[in-house]
Amino acid sequence: MLLLLLACAGTDPAAPSPVPSPSPPAPAAAVAAPPAAIEPPPPAGPDPHVDLHVDTPTQMVRRKVGIEDPELESGLDDMVEGGTNVVVEVLWPPRSPQPTWPAMVEELFAKVEEQDARWPDVEVARTPSEVRRVLAEHHVAMLVSIEGAHGLDDGGPVGPQLARLAALQRRGLSLIGLTWTFSNRYAGSSGDTPSDNPAGLGLTDDGRALVDEANRLGIVIDVSHASDAATMEACQRSKAPVIASHSDADGVHVHARNLPDEAVRCIAEKGGVIGVNFHATFVGPGANVRKVADQADYLKKVGGPGVVALGSDFDGLIKTPDGLSDAGDLPKLWAELARRGWTADELRAAQGGNFMRTWQAVLDAAGPR
Ligand SMILES: [Zn+2]
Repeated sequence: MLLLLLACAGTDPAAPSPVPSPSPPAPAAAVAAPPAAIEPPPPAGPDPHVDLHVDTPTQMVRRKVGIEDPELESGLDDMVEGGTNVVVEVLWPPRSPQPTWPAMVEELFAKVEEQDARWPDVEVARTPSEVRRVLAEHHVAMLVSIEGAHGLDDGGPVGPQLARLAALQRRGLSLIGLTWTFSNRYAGSSGDTPSDNPAGLGLTDDGRALVDEANRLGIVIDVSHASDAATMEACQRSKAPVIASHSDADGVHVHARNLPDEAVRCIAEKGGVIGVNFHATFVGPGANVRKVADQADYLKKVGGPGVVALGSDFDGLIKTPDGLSDAGDLPKLWAELARRGWTADELRAAQGGNFMRTWQAVLDAAGPR
């Protein structure tokens, strides 16, 4: 496995890099200082290259390793090699009895915080301006998300669970997914059918309260894994943009886990983003770099260039597409999109600019705190 990963990583020296190297800061000009009313520019740093979904925390806990482990698909070396400098580290509570879900989230969160403490190269970031500072220091910013709101659920009333959401935000949580592959007390899942859940697969009353509270707090709502009904209801109810962090499109390959066009359009119209998922089962038959690029092309066609992002699902036990074995391979995807005529601006947007815009809009919609 190790040899395979090493063999796969960075073996395509012929692939052109469409990502311009960050320009060095301009030398100080010998002119008068601008008026104080003009905001200073953000610190110079590389453009954000965001991966909206990796399950690396689960792998680190299960295998008792750190983010430097070379067998990870989105380990530190792979991210540096492929250009990822903003990564959403996902806290994933799998199917289990209710009271253990918050404990699982706690264990995974502690693992992320341990990486922050151990490695100067990685840092948990809570706001876009924190990300800009981390990037200006040429480090990797880690954002924290929970994959499924059941991660809040200890079986008690909803009020304390929403208070737990606020407490996790103070600690560094920036995003929350509504569900994983099973319906929970908040929302219906794409892994269920109406017969599994006679009450329906939309949002529950608790789910509506969760959407409202996430809006109030400025936490990004993630509809990946939610049923189509819950996706549409969350998208329409939310006052802020929502995202699908790691979802492909039904328009390329029909799958319960993929988004119908109406969901792509709703997310785009609200100012959200959709992270193209690399899992071969969702990408479609013969998954490879070109098939993943087909997904990005389709999202751009239906939702516009402002909706496209990347959510690899690395370290989530996915079947990786040919040529995209780990985070070190990402330049191959950008090269393929450049070959198809994506402009430099469109590439920068898909690489990270779109998500940074969405995240700032979610915080702005929450208002001053
Ligand atoms: Zn997932």
